[in-house]
Amino acid sequence: MTETSNLHIAVVGGGPGGYAAAFLAADLGLRVTLIDPEANPGGVCLYRGCIPSKALLHVAKLIDESRHAKNWGIEYADPKIDLSRLRSWKEGVVKKLTGGLGLLSKQRKVEYIQGRAAFENSNTLRISKVGGDQSLTFDRIILATGSRPAIIPSLKLDTPRLMDSTAALDLKEVPGTLLVIGGGYIGLELGTVYAALGSKVSVVEMLPGLLPGADRDLVLPLHKRIGKSFDSILLNTTVAAMKEESNGIRVTFDGPEVKEREKVFDKVLVSVGRKPNSEIPGLDKTQVQLGLRGFVQVNKQLQTSDPAIYAIGDVVGEPMLAHKASHEGRTAVEAIAGHKVAFEPAAIPAVVFTDPEIAWCGLTETQAQNENREIKVAKFPWAASGRAMTVDRTEGMTKLILDPQTERVLGVGIVGAGAGELIAEGVLAVEMAALARDIAMTIHPHPTLSETVMQAAEVFFGTSTDLYRPKKM
Ligand code: FAD
Repeated sequence: MTETSNLHIAVVGGGPGGYAAAFLAADLGLRVTLIDPEANPGGVCLYRGCIPSKALLHVAKLIDESRHAKNWGIEYADPKIDLSRLRSWKEGVVKKLTGGLGLLSKQRKVEYIQGRAAFENSNTLRISKVGGDQSLTFDRIILATGSRPAIIPSLKLDTPRLMDSTAALDLKEVPGTLLVIGGGYIGLELGTVYAALGSKVSVVEMLPGLLPGADRDLVLPLHKRIGKSFDSILLNTTVAAMKEESNGIRVTFDGPEVKEREKVFDKVLVSVGRKPNSEIPGLDKTQVQLGLRGFVQVNKQLQTSDPAIYAIGDVVGEPMLAHKASHEGRTAVEAIAGHKVAFEPAAIPAVVFTDPEIAWCGLTETQAQNENREIKVAKFPWAASGRAMTVDRTEGMTKLILDPQTERVLGVGIVGAGAGELIAEGVLAVEMAALARDIAMTIHPHPTLSETVMQAAEVFFGTSTDLYRPKKM
């Protein structure tokens, strides 16, 4: 036991950052209080983010596959969608998972307080909860308050026709027409769900491409596919104005490529990014400092400028992803417990759960170009993959970003069905400083899509069994 084992720590926010931190702290023998407004831990990810969206995307995939099956000689009738049953299945998934986390809290003897925390000073929180406020003092406090959807003030309308991601996940109805403002991953994932359920979905993005931040060659197959399943994709276009009318929201578009300046949509989903929940009452009574865009500033141990306060997850910055939050949570707790740790991952995977999925980790080609960094890129097109052929999804591609001198794997990018599951091998390769040779020599099971990672390494050496590519010297 370290001398820190008597510490009482508070974790503010019960999302994937907060509950991971609280559970590890309890496992390490610390006294832990976890505070969150919901009845059970889970945060945005479980209640209104990762989990409900993936449950709905699973259904969307099934609908798409059932339609596609006619190409294989199997024809199904159009699906009848029982929205209330779909909604309760999705809610059941959320309930089971969050209930499970509640149980895990109890088993670990984490004190769970359903309420909202405000600071009285660096060590004392005032917690508002049913039954009255309570002041509690802690040795250390971990802020894990997450983020919320960003709002464009000029595009605010007080109508249920205008949705954010939380309202879209509620699945109140399937609108005839839906405009998604923002071509980021959340907008595209939810657009995919509504398109499969029968909405005519349009997406508008002010930048020249969807999913800014992802390599363009990874985005291309997705763009092609949703170009067919969505009604329209408007790039280089902004929404100049919105007005509610009796039959929908009239949207005015602006941009050099705009053909139709105004259009009425049944519903509009605003998905233009997320804002950190750093406006915690009383935070000014501590030494915590906020940086760019309101993110809480932390060092590599996730400690803020106030020695008693740590911060993790969405509230400290990009990438705003659940797995980053939970790993930061574990690092913060280990630092508090006196372990020598730092949060410095070589790769944080990003997955876009559209169809096809896009996943990447480590260095991207775009990043290397922007940094003028010399790299070699080895690509294996899924058109040459036997497995991709058997599932009729040959539009995918797997690529390795390699250091030309050391042949070390610096990054991996995958687009294709199930890319999100495949990227884990890439993350391991980057973290373990694997060389292209290590991957090429690792026997992958046949026939699987995982072979494409090995085959990309073989392409690098010009020795791919399934593809002829002369070795680039
Ligand atoms: P959160 O999960 O945001 O939790 C913070 C908690 O703190 C909340 O419960 C909040 O109510 C509580 N809180 C705030 N202020 C206080 C206070 N003063 N007192 C007490 N409690 C407070 N990420 C992925 O990795 N994969 C995905 O597939 C994915 N899909 C997503 C889909 C959607 C639609 C959305 C919106 C997000 C998605 N994300 C996904 C992002 C992911 O949800 C977040 O990155 C993750 O939840 C961040 O975890 P966190 O612990 O930082 O905070």
